[in-house]
Formats: sequence, C-alpha cells, structure tokens
Amino acid sequence: MSETTVFGKIIAGEIPAEKIYEDDDCICINDISPKAPTHVLLIPKKPIPKLADATAEDEALLGRLMLKAGDIARQLGIDDAFRLIVNNGEGGGQTVFHLHLHILGNKKYTETDG
Ligand code: C5P
Repeated sequence: MSETTVFGKIIAGEIPAEKIYEDDDCICINDISPKAPTHVLLIPKKPIPKLADATAEDEALLGRLMLKAGDIARQLGIDDAFRLIVNNGEGGGQTVFHLHLHILGNKKYTETDG
C-alpha cells in the first residue's frame, strides 16, 4: 500500500523531514540525499504510486503540482535554473512508490533564503 511508503509516513507526521512547504494537496521536503545543490521533492498527499497510475480524476492535482513546482522554484531562487524529474517504475529509477516530483536546481537552499 502506498500509504505505508516513507512519504506516506512523512505526510502523516510519523517520521521527520525537512519540510519547506505544505498545503492541503501536497508537501515539499528537502531530499535526504541531494543530487544537486538544491534538491527538493514535491509530493502530493494523495498516494498515487506512480505517474502512470494517475487517472483523469487526478488531472487538476497534477496541474496544481506543476504550478506549485514553479512557485517553489521561485521561492528557492532557482526559477531560471531547475529541472523537474519524475521517475516512473523500477525501470525508470523510482524507489519510493508514492508519486513525487524532483526539483533540482543550482542554488543551495537554506532556511534563511525565504
Ligand atoms: O524517484 P525516486 O523514487 O528514486 O526518489 C526517491 C527520493 O526520495 C530519493 O532521491 C531519496 O533520496 C529520497 N528520500 C528522501 N527521504 C527519505 C527517503 C528517500 O528524501 N526518507
């Protein structure tokens, strides 16, 4: 069950994470093992295991995630220098089966950056 993934537990507050944003639909956390100077994960609260499992019912949520990725990139000061990555399935490099967007950028994020 996707609710039992590490991201489900972070969303439920059962395990800690460095949360940099949260609303009713999603959370954004610092990746625990960053692959770029800025590496955050935007995670919908709805436990969709992987992108290919999303349905038409998820259309608005997926749109909100894309817009939110831009907002967060602006907040982090990387809105002209980031990549958005979604790994899908084991063959696509996915290791946590709760949909998430990697936002990778060139600027180190710290709490004081606002
Ligand atoms: O796309 P993929 O499923 O491989 O990405 C999972 C990501 O979740 C990894 O970048 C990993 O570092 C991150 N992670 C995390 N906190 C955890 C477990 C995994 O940030 N507690």
